[in-house]
Amino acid sequence: MVLCNFLISQMTKNSCKKNMQKYSLSCKDMGVEKCDYIAEGETKEEVIDMATQHGMKVHAKEMEGMMEKMSKEEINEKMMDNIKETDV
Ligand SMILES: [Zn+2]
Repeated sequence: MVLCNFLISQMTKNSCKKNMQKYSLSCKDMGVEKCDYIAEGETKEEVIDMATQHGMKVHAKEMEGMMEKMSKEEINEKMMDNIKETDV
């Protein structure tokens, strides 16, 4: 009985994993060619959060330039557009 429950929980875990998607956004996609950084997460929000934090830390100048031309919403939209979906 216990073993049976264990197996079922393992099976559900695996089928969950199969359906799970991962999102990624690379600096190159955002126009920063010299950087190999790729933000990866399970949700788009997570990826945008990571990319924003990385951008502010490492690409402060580029971010400033971008923010002069675009609003925060536009930058978010640009990031959303560039996020790639991959199956795990
Ligand atoms: Zn970068």
